[in-house]
Amino acid sequence: DDRIAAIAESIRIIPDFPKPGIMFQDITTLLLDPKAFKDTIDLFVERYKDKNISVVAGVEARGFIFGPPIALAIGAKFVPMRKPNKLPGEVISEEYTLEYGTDKIEMHVGAVQAGERALVIDDLIATGGTLCAAMNLLERVGVDVVECACVIELAELKGRERLRGKPLFVLVSST
Ligand code: 5GP
Repeated sequence: DDRIAAIAESIRIIPDFPKPGIMFQDITTLLLDPKAFKDTIDLFVERYKDKNISVVAGVEARGFIFGPPIALAIGAKFVPMRKPNKLPGEVISEEYTLEYGTDKIEMHVGAVQAGERALVIDDLIATGGTLCAAMNLLERVGVDVVECACVIELAELKGRERLRGKPLFVLVSST
């Protein structure tokens, strides 16, 4: 698809952010390019519009940028998966391991029902820990996770292998 190259080019790489040695993939420059941004959303919508998906679950923070326009276009609800202690209502949470230590994401109880079909979206998959935790949360309440999707995959980190065989769709694979 000839839209992909322009999307890839619109993503800026910032060396040594947030710490030395990290090459940070900055999607804010993609958002500054209305064609690249629209093409990004369209590519996801084209893939998911006829898949009977009733939930788009977006991971804080950049899953909140890409998730809602996809949800609106496919007629699904949007469910935010948030960092700890941000959601005001009753939550269920899932802990996951980072390189050093652990992190947690939370979802409102009652946001989704058993048997619903969900797409999980984030901007980027690195080790896969975040997407795996999001998937676990949804599956714990009986939701069928159809697929995970990201704009960017850091392929060398093999995050895909942490998704327990769940399909992962990405637009740009980066080394
Ligand atoms: P993982 O859990 O797969 O190791 O890390 C993915 C999470 O970290 C995602 O929520 C993603 O937004 C964030 N992340 C890690 N590295 C980068 C990066 O280089 N660029 C961006 N935009 N997000 C990153």
